[in-house]
Amino acid sequence: MELNITCIPGDGIGPEIVAEAKKVLDVLAKKYGHKINYTDILMGGASIDAYGVPLTEEAVQTAKSADAVLMGSIGGDTTTSPWYKLPPHLRPEAGLLSIRKALNLFANLRPAVLYEELAEACPLKKEISAAGFDMLIMRELTGGLYFGERKTVEENGIRKAIDTLTYDETEIRRIAVKGFEIAMKRKKKVTSVDKANVLDSSRLWRKVVEEVAAGYPEVTLEHMLVDNCAMQLVKDPAQFDVILTENMFGDILSDEASMVTGSIGMLASASLNDSRFGLYEPSHGSAPDIAGKDIANPIATILSASMMLRYSFDLDKEADEIDLAVKNVLKEGYRTADIMSDGCTLVGCKQMGDLLAGRIG
Ligand code: NAD
Repeated sequence: MELNITCIPGDGIGPEIVAEAKKVLDVLAKKYGHKINYTDILMGGASIDAYGVPLTEEAVQTAKSADAVLMGSIGGDTTTSPWYKLPPHLRPEAGLLSIRKALNLFANLRPAVLYEELAEACPLKKEISAAGFDMLIMRELTGGLYFGERKTVEENGIRKAIDTLTYDETEIRRIAVKGFEIAMKRKKKVTSVDKANVLDSSRLWRKVVEEVAAGYPEVTLEHMLVDNCAMQLVKDPAQFDVILTENMFGDILSDEASMVTGSIGMLASASLNDSRFGLYEPSHGSAPDIAGKDIANPIATILSASMMLRYSFDLDKEADEIDLAVKNVLKEGYRTADIMSDGCTLVGCKQMGDLLAGRIG
């Protein structure tokens, strides 16, 4: 298979972690006879330095012509970097918002996995973390409260702010379809999270999700109110497979879910549009404090590359190999500094990439 991938190394540790992901992808490609064509584009601070803007139209066109985008991370130290003296639309993060919009990425996927070997990092009680967990939060990314009409007015001397939460059925249907499709590749369970006891938008959400569920008889659907879900995530996270939810609930729940894993350097993410196209990136930022020191953990980016193979290219076997290599390397006791614990072997970013590539080749 020929895979056309646009890479955005980005800023800070971005270029270091993307290089390790490419290393692993190249070994897999060789093993399975795939051909990967990479095209790098600049975004964020690197693009500001080169072109004066965080994302050029040419870069957007390159990304659009690829099958998928693999990204490191963008941005610098927000207190000291000159990038943050620029007006907001010229700062690094504006590049990310623009590319998400240009590529119509409406579905955000964030897996939260507790690896047995990293259970100590989990802030939950041992009797809860002992069961482990492997869930995926599927968050709607382009609708809801963050994109509704908003204004602040003054009425009779009293300031009043208004935000509107709107969803139409097509927006709900397309994310629900993605959720069920992805559940079919996993443990075949969808927990749809809403606030249907209060909100009209949630009542419509529930109806449309049920309509979509009818097309996936193998998938078990349950509904959960968002407040209960927030509690269940810390009480019994093992119960979840795919959590399907709207923009704001997903924003909050995905951060909560990643917190309970305790390991930011391990968390992958993907943003998808309605074709097979996706942008894959670690959940963490560009970590300017450790950039250039060869100590960053590349695993979140490597697991993002695994998601890319699974969801944009349907290469499940190859993706499984990456996931297994990560588990094995952790089991063998290798750790980057962020996940280091007593009795383990400390390795740098490059060495972690070499180890993972070595388990595949
Ligand atoms: P951050 O995630 O970059 O760093 C938080 C802490 O985690 C730091 O101590 C860092 O060293 C550590 N860390 C993060 N990733 C790591 C890894 N792979 N290995 C080892 N340690 C790791 O968050 P921040 O410091 O708040 O933000 C830094 C910059 O990243 C900012 O400019 C921010 O806007 C940007 N950012 C970008 C994205 C993105 O590109 N999608 C996301 C979040 C933050």
